[in-house]
Amino acid sequence: MFCPNCGFQLPDDARFCSECGTVLTPVSQSAAPEPAPAPVSAPAPQPAPVIQPAPSFAAPLQPEPSYDSPRTPIVYIPEQKNNIMCVVGFFSSLGTILLGGIPSIVTLILSIIGLVQAKKNNERGRGLAIAGIIISSVLVASLTLGIIIGVIKNFYE
Ligand SMILES: [Zn+2]
Repeated sequence: MFCPNCGFQLPDDARFCSECGTVLTPVSQSAAPEPAPAPVSAPAPQPAPVIQPAPSFAAPLQPEPSYDSPRTPIVYIPEQKNNIMCVVGFFSSLGTILLGGIPSIVTLILSIIGLVQAKKNNERGRGLAIAGIIISSVLVASLTLGIIIGVIKNFYE
């Protein structure tokens, strides 16, 4: 055995440490090392169960925002839908460029209807409708100007 105080090697039946004089009672010597690791190892498992409930409390909180996040896109999807008239007005006004701008009056009306409907129903596609109105207006203006110039030319000839 060894002295618990100074570590001096002693015979197993020694009652006193011959080096430092510490009383070596076999009960206190064997009991002393055992309780010492026990309190050390005991608090270690205790914090672990404390930490485990914490994530389990946090875990139910996390699915709640994850349930809200799928709901919000569902709400936004109908709002992001383009008004059909806006799309029709825009692309048909683009098409009228290829057709020489003759149906541009129709596409102008379509784009205006689209813009009004998009505002009323709070739909998207106002940008397309405004673009369609601008394209159609330019075509109508240039067509009207062309007709006026043509009429004036014919008048003076
Ligand atoms: Zn000793």
